Amino acid sequence: MKVEVLQTPIDYLKGVGSNRAALLRKELGVHTFQDLLNIFPNRHIDRTKFYKVSELAPSSAEVQVIGQIVDIKEVGQQRGKRLVATFQDDTGVMELVWFRGHKWIRQSLKTNQAYVAFGRVNEFGGRWNMAHPELELKSDYDQNKSSSMQAVYPSTEALAKQGISNRVMRKMMMQLFETTKGRFTETLPLSVIDQLKLLSKTDALIQVHFPESNDLLSKAEFRLKFEELFFIQLQLLLKNRQHKAKIKGFPFSSVGDYFNSFYNQFLPFELTNAQKRVLKEIRHDLGTGAQMNRLLQGDVGSGKTMVAFMTILMALDNGFQACLMAPTAILATQHYENLRRFCDPMHIHISLLIGATKTAERRIIHEDLESGILHILVGTHALVEDRVKFKNLGLAIIDEQHRFGVAQRSKLWHKNTLPPHVLVMTATPIPRTLAMSVYGDLDNSIIDELPPGRTPIKTVHRFDNNRLKVIRFLREEIAKGRQAYVVYPLIEESETLDYKDLMDGYDSMVRDFPRPEYQISIVHGQMKPADKTIEMERFAKGITQILIATTVIEVGIDVPNATVMVIESAERFGLSQLHQLRGRVGRGAAQSYCILMTGPKLGDDSKTRIATMVRTNDGFEIAEVDLKLRGPGDLMGTQQSGVLQLKIANIVKNREILELSRHTAHRILEADPNLSQAAHVNLRETLLKMKQFRNIWNFIS
Ligand code: ADP
Ligand code: MG
Repeated sequence: MKVEVLQTPIDYLKGVGSNRAALLRKELGVHTFQDLLNIFPNRHIDRTKFYKVSELAPSSAEVQVIGQIVDIKEVGQQRGKRLVATFQDDTGVMELVWFRGHKWIRQSLKTNQAYVAFGRVNEFGGRWNMAHPELELKSDYDQNKSSSMQAVYPSTEALAKQGISNRVMRKMMMQLFETTKGRFTETLPLSVIDQLKLLSKTDALIQVHFPESNDLLSKAEFRLKFEELFFIQLQLLLKNRQHKAKIKGFPFSSVGDYFNSFYNQFLPFELTNAQKRVLKEIRHDLGTGAQMNRLLQGDVGSGKTMVAFMTILMALDNGFQACLMAPTAILATQHYENLRRFCDPMHIHISLLIGATKTAERRIIHEDLESGILHILVGTHALVEDRVKFKNLGLAIIDEQHRFGVAQRSKLWHKNTLPPHVLVMTATPIPRTLAMSVYGDLDNSIIDELPPGRTPIKTVHRFDNNRLKVIRFLREEIAKGRQAYVVYPLIEESETLDYKDLMDGYDSMVRDFPRPEYQISIVHGQMKPADKTIEMERFAKGITQILIATTVIEVGIDVPNATVMVIESAERFGLSQLHQLRGRVGRGAAQSYCILMTGPKLGDDSKTRIATMVRTNDGFEIAEVDLKLRGPGDLMGTQQSGVLQLKIANIVKNREILELSRHTAHRILEADPNLSQAAHVNLRETLLKMKQFRNIWNFIS
């Protein structure tokens, strides 16, 4: 099959015409033959089994019954009007019912001829009825019956209303196979097909649309899912390789004074093995002469900041500047404060640039950056403004938290002759499958170990009517000299409502924890930044014992003496948010607690979220559950979800196929980095076609 034929506009398929074509384009995004071919069934139904009327039972499944129409009448008035046909077999009668399109249907129905009626049955007034059945003369049915497993295609209300029923979809699909003679170009190398015992492309397409058996259907689905994931992986790995071959980076050849003296004199603790391993991976990248492009994942509190700082030292040792970009001003400030503590004793110059930075200060920063006096610049996306010019930026660290897009990332690259090395840090662990799909072109480092001496946080769920016990518990902890957070949700749509909740909560806490014995801080989004800082500092210094806050504390506060995190209306938070909040405690050696408060009634998803939090502290496990609950698109934000719009595979359900596809792509590129071998001609051509006819690769910058 020549690809050009599959690129034919759908209007030209026999039986489609311009009205249907417009509908297909609008509703299913089907523009060409190829697009239709790639509308895969949601499910299949078994049409080998026929039911007798006497065998019907209440169920949601579709059934088919053979019988004859013995009577047709219209019943009801006006809007309640419907067409009812009495349908009879040798065991009893049921009713076929239509609520619309009466005239045309009535004309087409033939009495006293054998029909196959297909649909869902309901019992009503002591009789079975089937609403809007698919109805086919038994003689036609026998002739057309190409397959016993019948495809059910995705549909929309508009499609159904305008007569593109599932049967019509199937007919179009049949027409498509006829027009194209059912011969499709193989996209995978024979060696892969042999080794994995895959169906050929043609067989897989035939069997997925018109399966001969369950077994062949599952083989077809496997092949098509594998293929879909494989080409994504091949593309990502190719990009990674080409990047390494083409994009030169500054070679950081020496580990010098900054790194060594910090390591020997100032490092406040022994690095964990995971930190050491990751630093080794980074050092290797920096020495290769290619630009580093690495993703650093680690749970909250796993010590990413230290890894980031020591990477910065490598840049400094080689005479380069470094920057660290964070998604919010609070987080940028926190990073700045943290790093400054390490920088000061070593006489390293570091500055903070955020939206609120004063003009005079900015001017100094701009000058010092260009002259090279400034070593490190920490900030928000203010860093990518045009006026910010580095003398020689060698390393950009991005604390991403899913909030920066690829576009912003690459903007940093244009500040130099050579692009700086890039390290992307994410605090929310990304499930492996997602990391492979979305960040598959980056190299991946994982800190999978927490620093020693941490006692795992105990998490409990309490209903609101147990508040008194929770208060008693808080008093006990405070009596031991500890501090507590109480967090209220802040959801933008109902900001005023949330604000009221927060203030009510504050009032009742003040009653339960009266001055002067207790001091309470409050921080929320409607406060001036300076006031926020003052309140946070009072808490950090231990002047106040309780910090009441909205989610502003989610990022960027580190108070090791705080041991209790109370999350109000926990059912309103997402899993990753709950996990981030919990990560605010458990920073010291003392036992820490997270108390999830909820109302009495919880939906299924809320129950799962709460139960997951209670069960585990492992960010990766939590991320997997989150992925299952929310789906990949939601989890990553629309920005990065382009790659996740898969036609047949599902990265949550097809994890093993995804791993296999990545492994296979990897193996092929190891043996044939440019896909120049004759055996790989299919791959080359498929990639080319993908580029030509679909721009799905746009998401890769
Ligand atoms: P992350 O950024 O990954 O959430 P941080 O870098 O903020 O974690 O580290 C959390 C806390 O653990 C900080 O107080 C940090 O000083 C400390 N820390 C980091 N690495 C170690 C280590 N190897 N041993 C002991 N404490 C560590
Ligand atoms: Mg951090």
